[in-house]
Amino acid sequence: MFEKVLIANRGEIALRILRACHELGLRVVAVHSSADTQLKHVRLADESVCIGPPASAQSYLNIPAIIAAAEVTGADAIHPGYGFLSENADFAERVETSGFVFIGPPPAAIRTMGDKVQAIQTMKAAGVPTVPGSDGVLADDIGSVVRLAEEIGLPVIVKAVGGGGGRGMRVALSSAELPDLIPLTRGEAQAAFGDSRLYMEKFLTHPRHVEIQVLADAHGNAIHLGERDCSMQRRHQKVIEEAPAPGLAAGERERIGRLCTRACLEMGYRGAGTFEFLYQDGEFYFIEMNTRLQVEHPVTEMITGLDIVQEQLRIAAGEPLGVRQEDVSFSGHAIECRINAEHPETFAPSPGSVSLWHAPGGPGVRVDSHLYTGYTVPPFYDSLVGKLVAWGVNRPAAIARMQLALNEIVTEGLVTNVPLHQILLDSDGFSGGGADIHFLEKWLAREAVSEAPEGA
Ligand code: ADP
Repeated sequence: MFEKVLIANRGEIALRILRACHELGLRVVAVHSSADTQLKHVRLADESVCIGPPASAQSYLNIPAIIAAAEVTGADAIHPGYGFLSENADFAERVETSGFVFIGPPPAAIRTMGDKVQAIQTMKAAGVPTVPGSDGVLADDIGSVVRLAEEIGLPVIVKAVGGGGGRGMRVALSSAELPDLIPLTRGEAQAAFGDSRLYMEKFLTHPRHVEIQVLADAHGNAIHLGERDCSMQRRHQKVIEEAPAPGLAAGERERIGRLCTRACLEMGYRGAGTFEFLYQDGEFYFIEMNTRLQVEHPVTEMITGLDIVQEQLRIAAGEPLGVRQEDVSFSGHAIECRINAEHPETFAPSPGSVSLWHAPGGPGVRVDSHLYTGYTVPPFYDSLVGKLVAWGVNRPAAIARMQLALNEIVTEGLVTNVPLHQILLDSDGFSGGGADIHFLEKWLAREAVSEAPEGA
């Protein structure tokens, strides 16, 4: 095992990783921007290094500064967290060529999964079900694209190969829309991603987002830790996640989980990873693989009792997986609410100072947050300030605990989306379970209408 790990991230996830390291007896180097000297994990780290000004491009994305910090502190390994450089294959390569261990998959796996067309082709070859669509990049000739769309069956979704974060995609309801839609999307893709290549998929009308967590070591072992349902989304951003997915039968979990672990072995994957699927009418359709730790990993930890970050550390240190598939068991139900420093109705970011922080508690409640009384949320970064996770013996019990925990949370001075979670958890759509990815936006639109003053 290593002795010292550098965490190339900030906020709640840096704190989460620090805790996993300290629990294993590893020392921690925190790197931070000049706006982040007061971050909780910076205060708890064994050493810290300021790597640049507030702008992420000059600090958390500054590869030479991060490598230099690892060199001066004598770190052995670098954990990238999520976001920032976590899925940057060039960074992973630089970490390795500089003599450090990258706590993540091999750079080649990051590169392949970062190219959406290559990722889909790799999965198809490994027997993972994908969305019916163009086999690769769309041709320039509109006639052939129209024929292809008709073969796939309309509606179709046209996506930029280089896209991400839910951007660079358009839905065509009829093939008559394609002659205008294709050049428009191409132009936007070129402007936004510097890559005009497009591909096409059948547009699924009422899918759920169900993803499979995997772990693979360097000794030919791969396991899955079941699924998470992340269908509660706004603008393709997850708001609430849960495990297991409501209504998914054990047999279905086993079947899709095994396909994912087999794919990991075939592509020589190593580390933690997530296969994201759309799930509709009992079928799974692969959309992308995240080659990193995910925000929502705690719900899986709550129902399996495993520590995914510690597993990442062990795998990166070359140790074999500590658990076999037959040792993985699932108990109860867990839900995670993402706590954002944002207005609950307008979703406008609202950084500011926390004059009083009180974390909820009690059995089955987990709070992953870097907030503390007196901390000021800087305006430069993502608005996620914490994750509230509740476990219960079943889904209704988990919901009941989450409601208690939401009522207990105090973030005086800071505007958060806690009120949104409170009413969303109470809605029939959520409590019924199994809502699709469009539920939240439709529900928000209805809420806004019902709250509008008369005549408005
Ligand atoms: P990104 O990398 O930009 O997040 P994805 O391919 O993962 O792009 O798609 C983002 C979201 O767009 C999905 O979570 C889903 O909500 C929607 N989406 C993507 N593909 C389809 C499809 N074939 N049918 C319906 N919705 C889709």
